[in-house]
Amino acid sequence: MTKKKKIDAKSNFWEEKSLDEMNQEEWESLCDRCGKCCLVLLRDEDTNEIHETDIACRLYDVKNRRCCDYNNRHTLVPDCIQLTPQKARTLDWLPGTCAYRRLANSQPLPMWHPLITKNPMSVIEAGIATSQNLLSEENVKDEDLTSRVRGLRR
Ligand code: SF4
Ligand code: SF4
Repeated sequence: MTKKKKIDAKSNFWEEKSLDEMNQEEWESLCDRCGKCCLVLLRDEDTNEIHETDIACRLYDVKNRRCCDYNNRHTLVPDCIQLTPQKARTLDWLPGTCAYRRLANSQPLPMWHPLITKNPMSVIEAGIATSQNLLSEENVKDEDLTSRVRGLRR
């Protein structure tokens, strides 16, 4: 028996639209909530390489992997970026797993992305999300930052 079913033509919007064409809801849903853009990064002045630390922004809720005050984040943390399609194309410190960066570079979403798995936990299950063993930047002195490097940003 053939059953009639309405097919949602927008279900794979990320394959059909450019970043510039997406509406707000679509744009926000691209974020897998990995938390990697809330880590303190160090750029090597000599090599230009970017290193990840185990230090998080002071507004980052490590346990729940989210910003504590998303609506006011740009006031409270002036260097928190507002991602745009243009920034997704040019910011070299976004992780290679970040959906904005991937789509800006004509790469597909990874198979573990929540939009594909329909499971918001899949970013954690795939081992992509930030560790919950992070320090807050409020508790780390500037002179100790280099000792908190945990690897290259990829
Ligand atoms: S790195 Fe990209 S996908 Fe991960 S939390 Fe930041 S914006 Fe979202
Ligand atoms: S202000 Fe919020 S969104 Fe911005 S880096 Fe800090 S925790 Fe992340």
